[in-house]
Amino acid sequence: MEKKNIDWSNLGFGYMETDKRYVATYKDGKWDEGKLISDSYITMSECACVLQYAQTIFEGMKAYTTQDGRTVVFRPDLNAKRFADSARRMEMPVLSEEQYIDSIKQVVKANEAYVPPYGTGATLYLRPYMFGINPVIGVKPATEFQYRVFATPVGPYFKGGAKPITIKVSDYDRAAPRGTGNIKAGLNYAMSLHAIVEAHEQGFDENMYLDPQTRRKVEETGGANFLFITKDNKVVTPKSDSILPSVTRRSLMYVAKEYLGLETEEREVYFDEIKDFAECGLCGTAAVISPVGKINDHGKEICLPSGMEKMGPITQKLYETLTGIQMGLVEAPEGWICEIK
Ligand SMILES: *Cc1c(COP(=O)(O)O)cnc(C)c1O
Repeated sequence: MEKKNIDWSNLGFGYMETDKRYVATYKDGKWDEGKLISDSYITMSECACVLQYAQTIFEGMKAYTTQDGRTVVFRPDLNAKRFADSARRMEMPVLSEEQYIDSIKQVVKANEAYVPPYGTGATLYLRPYMFGINPVIGVKPATEFQYRVFATPVGPYFKGGAKPITIKVSDYDRAAPRGTGNIKAGLNYAMSLHAIVEAHEQGFDENMYLDPQTRRKVEETGGANFLFITKDNKVVTPKSDSILPSVTRRSLMYVAKEYLGLETEEREVYFDEIKDFAECGLCGTAAVISPVGKINDHGKEICLPSGMEKMGPITQKLYETLTGIQMGLVEAPEGWICEIK
């Protein structure tokens, strides 16, 4: 199959329309079987539930080419389960794991010419999402929904190496206690836009959100979970009911333990502990791990010993092992790599 003539290594993280997208409709209490379509526009009522009350959820995944030329996606079953959890919390109909994975496979296959070649660092980003589409004016859930998946090629997250970033402790909260922080709903992102624009204006790359109840514990950033490395090489990740369970973070914790033989802990992490950690990273599908070099707490700087030049040594090993598993250079655990045939 002929690839598109795209300058893969210089692509940014933006939307580029591709040939096909998947759409399934939920009506009269059931999902139809779904199909691929060419039209990238959606027509809906001005009173559609998603436009008035933000009844919408999403996922983020990527397809890429392995070293031996296979087109694959990473652990789509976990995204399917998380999507179902998001749907239940938002009073939306659950799509079966089978249909979810089938939709992903169809979209990747139909847009295979946009899956970047191995070695470019680029990937085909996949965006599954669902929203309430029928008119709703009194506050209640929609009764008709659309599930869609589109694909868009995105460039390498780190152009010219992963430079550590600087983040700030946010004065805003990302998620309420017992709220929706643990699901992937558009509303969590809507709430974070003002905070991230402000942080960028102040020269920071990201926000560190604390737990809204006590503001003493670390939660996550707007779109990535934290990993910390202790000075004796333990891998620690915050535990909280309002953190989004990142597939990347769960995979890295497994890699730390089973591939690198490191001790791992998922537990409450107090902000006061951060000054004692050796390394810090942010994990999510887009970057896998972004190293954090500095954390600014209202003008007081906490500088991680790993510095501002490169990833810390343990972060680097985690990054190399997981990306090695993804690219087919390191043997993957059973079921982690889903080949698109
Ligand atoms: C999507 C997301 C992540 C990262 O999850 P992955 O499954 O690793 O991509 C982390 N935090 C938030 C708030 C997210 O929405």
